[in-house]
Order: sequence, then structure tokens, then C-alpha cells
Amino acid sequence: MVYILLIILALVVTAIVSNRATRDCRWREYPGADAARWRCAACGAQTDTADGKPPKTCLRNSK
Ligand SMILES: [Zn+2]
Repeated sequence: MVYILLIILALVVTAIVSNRATRDCRWREYPGADAARWRCAACGAQTDTADGKPPKTCLRNSK
């Protein structure tokens, strides 16, 4: 019985973590760039922004 509970708990935790990972990009400022260039740590997308702030949406589906 304990193993079944552990498996269910693992599935729930996995679902929560994967949901959080796909909800938003994790933008990191690109080092060494002149402009404000951001790179997504989740999907690898890169973009430049005019206001120096990271984008709010994931760009993984933009291509
Ligand atoms: Zn992304």
C-alpha cells in the first residue's frame, strides 16, 4: 500500500513540476550582448527587447 501512495505522490509532483516548466519561459539575460538579449532556459528561444525587460511569453511556438 505504501508503494502505491508513493507512486501517486511521484506522479502528482511530476505533473506540477512539468506544468510549471511549460507555463512560462525562464528568461536569462544573454551575457556579452550590447542590446537587451534574452535566452530562454526552458526552450532555448532567443529574442531582443527594446525596454530591457524579459518577454512575458514563451517563443517556442513562434517559428
Ligand atoms: Zn521558452
